[in-house]
Amino acid sequence: TAVAQRVLTQRHEVEQLLAPLRLSRADLERVQGLMRQEMERGLGRDSNADASVRMLPTYVCNTPDGTERGDFLALDLGGTNFRVLVVRVMQEGIHMASEIYVVPTSIMQGTGEALFDHIIECIMDFQTKQNLMEQVLPLGFTFSFPCKQLGLDKALLLTWTKGFSASGCVGQDVVQLLREAAQRKQHLALKVVAVVNDTVGTMMACGYDDPRCEIGLIVGTGTNACYMEERKNVGTVEGEEGRMCINMEWGAFGDNGCLDDIFTTFDRMVDEKTINAGKQRFEKLISGMYLGEIVRHILLAMVDKQLLFRGKPSLKLQTRDIFQTKFLSTIETDGLALQHVQGILRDLELDASFEDSVLVREVCQTVSLRAAQLCAAGLAAVVEKMRENRGLAQLAVTVGVDGTLYKMHPHFSHNLQQMLQDLAPNCAVTFLQSEDGSGKGAALVAAVACRET
Ligand code: ADP
Repeated sequence: TAVAQRVLTQRHEVEQLLAPLRLSRADLERVQGLMRQEMERGLGRDSNADASVRMLPTYVCNTPDGTERGDFLALDLGGTNFRVLVVRVMQEGIHMASEIYVVPTSIMQGTGEALFDHIIECIMDFQTKQNLMEQVLPLGFTFSFPCKQLGLDKALLLTWTKGFSASGCVGQDVVQLLREAAQRKQHLALKVVAVVNDTVGTMMACGYDDPRCEIGLIVGTGTNACYMEERKNVGTVEGEEGRMCINMEWGAFGDNGCLDDIFTTFDRMVDEKTINAGKQRFEKLISGMYLGEIVRHILLAMVDKQLLFRGKPSLKLQTRDIFQTKFLSTIETDGLALQHVQGILRDLELDASFEDSVLVREVCQTVSLRAAQLCAAGLAAVVEKMRENRGLAQLAVTVGVDGTLYKMHPHFSHNLQQMLQDLAPNCAVTFLQSEDGSGKGAALVAAVACRET
């Protein structure tokens, strides 16, 4: 009949629209291979200038072994909030106290001096409140921006990201900037021992509970990973013995064009509207800042083709970032009544039928599945490299993970694990969610460093 015919045609058009977002196993194997190639190039002595994955040395050479003890200060800058913590590492476990401080936009985007003065003021406020003014505690600084690290306590800022743009900082050693601010504020008892990326903090925090944890993964606003590499493979650092943690900065994978055939029209539309168009291409396929936007662009295309909402778009759906990534989590929840989906869409002034709701859910599933699978392809390259490095037939390894998308999405972690097992069958990979990884991890890096000296 005519109705059945129309349904069939519509289904065909939906399939055509979504096909570029459905990655085959061969696609994912190719992404895995490309990641591996970019890792090698990033690690190399000379050729790393044009590698899209920067593979930055962190000077963290050991994960915790449980014998770390002491009291530490930790700073966490680069996530949604700025935090100051005191971390007490004892035989019985780790105790922490922390305060969240606001970094006003005017300071994020003002001068470097004002930013670091503000940080010192927050530390002093915290120490006063915690009655720690008299003590000189070793401090670990989680600073989650790309840095060229020259030592555990020496890190040159390569570029600001995430809305920061304080002047006079790029190219400078952030530890030095912190020390100079401490001098200006007469806070003479500051002992910065380590600068840590949040991926490294996450790995170290989980490593305290699980000695097999040698990978850190973030899937939140952005995405990034770190892992323990053989020191002899790190062309950019002297030394042959042992291992060093490498901050991959894998969000930038593909910035040299190697993933161009994975990007769809929708991904390009999202990318064009960002403040860093053409940059962080892998991240823009995976992380929380972008998945909702990708879905929104697909929905707009479907409305355009009369496949959704009777071809009637709402003005709201044309608004950037209106379709939040947390909607994917809700919409994809198993057993959720379709009325619930309709409710979310109604808030966007969309009059959705049951069929519309089913289709919106399918779009969300397609986008989040692709994100999890791409993340798996990246991780597969990492675990396979670690297995080969160590000359093992089988590798058992744990990944410490943080980030709201990973933690809150109902299927992301399952899809990631399943695809990873498929792509790296010789690696048994366990995932461990980190609690408060950035702060705890920075303290543990400081603790491991203090243990070694
Ligand atoms: P950060 O990476 O800055 O430390 P988070 O790990 O909290 O921050 O991640 C924030 C990101 O998580 C945002 O991009 C947001 O869209 C996304 N997000 C928030 N809630 C959810 C949710 N329930 N499901 C999936 N993603 C979410």
